[in-house]
Amino acid sequence: MPCIPRRRPQLVLHGSLTTFRRRCGKDSCHCATGEPHETPAFVYTEEGRSKTLTLRPGEAAEVSAAIAAYESTRDELEAAARAGIAALKARRSGGRP
Ligand SMILES: [Zn+2]
Repeated sequence: MPCIPRRRPQLVLHGSLTTFRRRCGKDSCHCATGEPHETPAFVYTEEGRSKTLTLRPGEAAEVSAAIAAYESTRDELEAAARAGIAALKARRSGGRP
């Protein structure tokens, strides 16, 4: 039987993407006079506290897509829930006992 490689499941993340900017303090570094160093980070809430995970190079795009995946699914679920309320209300006005 051929081994069919399974696609890695889509990452889903509830949070936001941010960028930390800092100057490293070395006088010879470009950041002393120019643009500061930038590190992308994922910000999320765990047990009511805001947490951050700094991201590795190349992870920002994946994390951004994962946040979009969460938000679109959440929006679909919210729309379905609103439709549920409308359906329940329609039963009341539909004259059914
Ligand atoms: Zn620097």
